[in-house]
Amino acid sequence: MEENKTPQPGKKRKFNLYWIYVILTVVLFALYFAGKDSPTQEEIEMGQLIELLKNEEISKIELVNKENAEIYLNEKGMSRHFPDEKPSRKGTSPTPQYKYRIGSLERFEETVENVQKENNIAKPIYITNVQNNSWGMEFLINWLPFIFIIVLWIVIMRGIGRGGMGGGQIFNMGKSKAQLFDKDNVPVNVTFKDVAGLEEAKVEIMEIVDFLKNPDKYTKLGGKIPKGVLLVGPPGTGKTLLAKSVAGEANVPFFSISGSDFVEMFVGVGASRVRDLFKNAKEKAPCIIFIDEIDAIGRARGKNPINGGNDERESTLNQLLTEMDGFGTNSGVIVLAATNRADILDKALMRAGRFDRQIYVELPDLIGRKEIFEVHMRNLKLGDDVDKDFLAKQTPGFSGADIANVCNEAALMAARKGKDAIEKQDFLDAIDRIIGGLEKKNKIITAQEKEVIAFHEAGHATTSWLLQYAHPLVKVTIVPRGKALGAAWYLPEERQITTKEQMYHEMVATMGGRAAEQVVFGQISTGALSDLEKVTKQAYAMVTYYGLNEVIGNVSFYDSTGQQDFSLTKPFSEKTAEVIDQEISKLVEKAYQEALTILRQHLDGLTLLANRLIEKEVIFSDDLVNIFGKRPWDKEENHEG
Ligand code: ADP
Ligand code: ZN
Repeated sequence: MEENKTPQPGKKRKFNLYWIYVILTVVLFALYFAGKDSPTQEEIEMGQLIELLKNEEISKIELVNKENAEIYLNEKGMSRHFPDEKPSRKGTSPTPQYKYRIGSLERFEETVENVQKENNIAKPIYITNVQNNSWGMEFLINWLPFIFIIVLWIVIMRGIGRGGMGGGQIFNMGKSKAQLFDKDNVPVNVTFKDVAGLEEAKVEIMEIVDFLKNPDKYTKLGGKIPKGVLLVGPPGTGKTLLAKSVAGEANVPFFSISGSDFVEMFVGVGASRVRDLFKNAKEKAPCIIFIDEIDAIGRARGKNPINGGNDERESTLNQLLTEMDGFGTNSGVIVLAATNRADILDKALMRAGRFDRQIYVELPDLIGRKEIFEVHMRNLKLGDDVDKDFLAKQTPGFSGADIANVCNEAALMAARKGKDAIEKQDFLDAIDRIIGGLEKKNKIITAQEKEVIAFHEAGHATTSWLLQYAHPLVKVTIVPRGKALGAAWYLPEERQITTKEQMYHEMVATMGGRAAEQVVFGQISTGALSDLEKVTKQAYAMVTYYGLNEVIGNVSFYDSTGQQDFSLTKPFSEKTAEVIDQEISKLVEKAYQEALTILRQHLDGLTLLANRLIEKEVIFSDDLVNIFGKRPWDKEENHEG
């Protein structure tokens, strides 16, 4: 069977696994028939056997598998029962003439012995025991489970080797799956000019480029260049892009792999992939290894006592640490890793000589977004009315990947409409599409529902406009998209710390939707679910995390290490828990009341705004300026045209 398991190395790739099934089936059939191919003998009864014994016509009896007695006749027997047989078969014939199926082995042996004794046979024959001549069946019985296991193993392995690349996959389990970009294969054609914004990150990473280009300059002075750099930031902010641009700038090979590629079901695979990766990298040094989503292997060890830890992941992580400790600072291999959760990573990863440097890659701000638009508009045919500043203002909270997506989507939309150039409206449509899933204009809402939604959204817009510290509004729409009925976009100020006032005003604005429903219709609806969720979370954070509540005081129950599991044990007493609950609902209620007050005072403006929404389905901050006037406390650059 061995040859089925090991296809020729050369053919590995082409080898189709189904051949294994075919070969197996053929072999099984062959074995089955091999067992059957001995000539069939006449089966006899006990009586006949006794008769033969009495007449001394038997030369020998062989027991086969303790199931059958095969009876060979002697000369006398042959001439009596098979007179037609050729004389050459005198003496003991090679095949038995009769077969007797044994019920009880002991009884059979006894009977044979007794019959001969009773009849005073001079030359009694004895029963000889042979194992088996039906080797095929025997083989099958012994080997079937084994064969079965092999087949099962192959099937499982194939299932794991992603993409079903055929039987060859099994033999590559321990090989790293890193994708290599270099001059000979796929060249890295990304440089710093393809990365917009991220100025600080670029400055930090420039040093690495410089080192890769002229390592002597640094090592001569005894300086140490970091072996590992951790890029921390939300998805789509350009971490991969940045790492690639380092390779592009320094013109060195770039190994790209995702943390989850190391993790397999089988013990030891991850570690051997890490070894393989570093082995390959050292051969290509100077080079860059980029590990995306390093949290897949780098999560803090032994944090979850219930699972008993994940040994395989730990050994993969340990191997990574060993490799990083193993190569010198001047070996020319630099590991860049990306994560969006630096806080859950194992502290050992961050120790000196490993990922001791962290670069934060944040969501782009207004200027950053404009630059990203510029990068991605380079190859687009734009209409005259496309204004990058305006688009940047329309996309607060977008990541670089989202903006790249917007540009592509806008191009597709313009093409669909048969335009020669991409216009502003295409970009706006693309933004809408990316924000809330596809526009569903045909989603049916009744006129009354539309009115409620309009007032709800106008409520948010009005309160946020009239509160000094709330985020100013960018756009409100009542066109349903995705699951949400309406949506409002605000321009978050780019601020690092938030005051109590700011948080509170945010909460009032969030409650503004429901408050408008109450003020105008005298009843509230389920439409405020996500508002309530948001406001509750914010109140909870104010009270328990940020120490912004007088009753609870300057206490924070936040756990920045992520090591504690609060679902089981709370870090505060039952009494405190009660107070927290009270304070949260007091806070939310206060925000609601304030929203009610504001909206009652500005009912006219609210109604105007809501009506405009019903009419146009979308309003921009211009409309708010027209109705309520400019926000006196706004800095000039926070407005948009
Ligand atoms: P991450 O690795 O942080 O999840 P990527 O680097 O994979 O994000 O970014 C995905 C895509 O988004 C990039 O290929 C690029 O087109 C675009 N992108 C993201 N950030 C930027 C940026 N700062 N400048 C230009 N393009 C960007
Ligand atoms: Zn709302």
